[in-house]
Amino acid sequence: MKRVGAHVSASGGVENAPLNAQAIGAKALALFTKNQRQWSAKPLSEESIAAFQQNLEAAAIRADLVLPHDSYLINLGHPDAEKREKSRLAFLDEMQRCRQLAIPLLNFHPGSHLNEISEEACLTLIADSLNRTLEQCEGVTAVIENTAGQGSNMGYRFEHLATIIGQIEDKSRIGVCLDTCHTFTAGYDLRDRTSCEATFTEFADVVGFHYLRAMHLNDSKPDLGSRVDRHHSIGHGKLGIEVFRYIMNDPRFEEIPMVLETIDENLWPEEIALLYSFITH
Ligand SMILES: [Zn+2]
Ligand SMILES: [Zn+2]
Repeated sequence: MKRVGAHVSASGGVENAPLNAQAIGAKALALFTKNQRQWSAKPLSEESIAAFQQNLEAAAIRADLVLPHDSYLINLGHPDAEKREKSRLAFLDEMQRCRQLAIPLLNFHPGSHLNEISEEACLTLIADSLNRTLEQCEGVTAVIENTAGQGSNMGYRFEHLATIIGQIEDKSRIGVCLDTCHTFTAGYDLRDRTSCEATFTEFADVVGFHYLRAMHLNDSKPDLGSRVDRHHSIGHGKLGIEVFRYIMNDPRFEEIPMVLETIDENLWPEEIALLYSFITH
C-alpha cells in the first residue's frame, strides 16, 4: 500500500502533528520534534510523549510511517572539529527524541564541506559522525536525504549516498530518503516514464532499493540540473506529474512514508487525493 502524507506542523507540541495529519487525509507524516532553526530545545515531556502516541493511534498511522526531520543547523560533515562536535550532539539529541517517541526513523541532510575540505573528506566525516551517534542511541535508523547540491551541500549524487553507506558499521541502521525535487534539480531527469525508469534504475544500481526508507514528494520551481532547492506544488513546477504517476504505481515504493513538502499547505488534501487517484490497479 502507498502511504502518502505531508510534513505537518508540530506547533503547540509534537502531539499535534498526528492530528494535523489526520485532518488532511494523510497516511504518513513528517515533523520537526523541536524548533528546526535552534540548537537546543527543552526535553519532550512525559505528557507530550503519551499524547503523541495516543494521537498517532487515533489517526491510524504506524510509527514507521512517521519521518522526523532534523534541524537545519546540523552539519555532520563540518570541517571544523568543534562545530562538528556541536552538530553530533544535536543529532544525538534528535535521535533520542525519536527513540522517546518510539519512531524508528530520523531524516537528515548529509552535510556541507563549506569549500574548506574535499567532497571525499566531507563524506568520511559524515559517516564517522553517523557511526558515533548510532552507537550511542539504539532503535533509530538514520535516513540520509539526497540534496539538490545547492552551495557546498553533499548528497546530490547517488554515489555520495553509497559512499556514506559503505562506511557505516551497522548497515541495518542506515537508509535513504529520495526527494523528487532534489533528485531533479541535482540533474537526474524524472519528467517522463523513460527518464523515471533510467533514474530509478541508476539508483537501484548505485545505492539499492533495500536502503530506500522514505520519499519526499515535491514538484520543482527550478529546472533540471540547476542545483537550486525550491519546492513547488504537485503539477505546478518543472517536474510535472508523470513521476508521481510512476511512483504511485511502482511496488518499490510500498509501505514507506511518502511525504509532501510542497509550498501551499492548503493544497495538501487535494494533492494527497490526486496522488492516490493516479493508482491504476
Ligand atoms: Zn530535507
Ligand atoms: Zn525534502
